Formats: sequence, C-alpha cells, structure tokens
Amino acid sequence: MTVRKITEYPDDVLAKVGKPVTEFDDDLKALCDDMFETMYDDHGVGLAAPQIGLPLRLFVMDCEGIKLVAANPEIIETSGEQTGQEGCLSLEKVPAVVVRAEKATLRAQDLNGEWFEKEAEGYAARCFLHETDHCDGKLFIDHLPKMRREMIIKKFKKEKKVYGK
Ligand SMILES: [Zn+2]
Repeated sequence: MTVRKITEYPDDVLAKVGKPVTEFDDDLKALCDDMFETMYDDHGVGLAAPQIGLPLRLFVMDCEGIKLVAANPEIIETSGEQTGQEGCLSLEKVPAVVVRAEKATLRAQDLNGEWFEKEAEGYAARCFLHETDHCDGKLFIDHLPKMRREMIIKKFKKEKKVYGK
C-alpha cells in the first residue's frame, strides 16, 4: 500500500467528469488500498480517484461506520436537508457550511463489480454526496455562492503558503 499525492485545487483533473470503471481486477483492488491508505494518512473520511490525479468514477469512504468502495457511483434518491460544515482534502480541509440533503441513497459497484444500494443520513450522506460530486468533476465549493466560494479559495491559498505545501 502506498500513500499517494493528493491533487489540489485548481488542478484540471478535479473539474473533469470521471471515466467509468470497467475492470474489476487486482489493479483496482490495489488502487483502492492505496486510496484508503492516502485517505487515512490525511485523516479524511472519503477520497475520490480524481483527488489522486485519476479521472475515474471511483471513491472510497470510511465515515460513521460506513466503509465502502464505490465504483461508478450515482445518487438515486435524496430527502430532507442538512446544513453543516464540510471540507475537502483537495482544499486543505478549509471548512465551509454547505447545505446538503439529510438522506441520500447511493448506487454503485463494489470491488467485484456487483451493484449495491446503500442509504445513509447525516454526515455519511454528506460524504456520499461530496464524493459522488468529485466523480462528476464537482467540488463542494461549487455549491457555494460566488462570494463565499472566493473566500474559501483565498483561505486555501493562504494556508498553502503558511504550511508551504
Ligand atoms: Zn473532496
């Protein structure tokens, strides 16, 4: 297992719609091992393939007891609303308040290519939505009004300078 380098905003790959995962083989398993390792190393609860520079529809997560690999993820149902803080490893975890659905149902393929559906609420639902967005080339800041988005980007650039990453 290897900790991969996290791709940071404004890298192009983060704005690309990912390609579908088609091979469910040992390479995919090894990639997902690396993604978990990278996520834990950076104390994240979710990590999508574009965040390590790969334009693929794939993410891993371990959030509030839900640990899974999601290939070709889609959100098939949402309900309710929650307002809470959210951050992203590709933006130095600079937090912002984002309104999301309270409940979300994820449909995706596991490491063997088997389709599954999983419902979550609260923070885990937020994670489903955030990571599926990454696979569609969207970042959490895209959900913010322009002024707040610019503020977050400014903060992120400042943190980068301070910590020299
Ligand atoms: Zn993210």
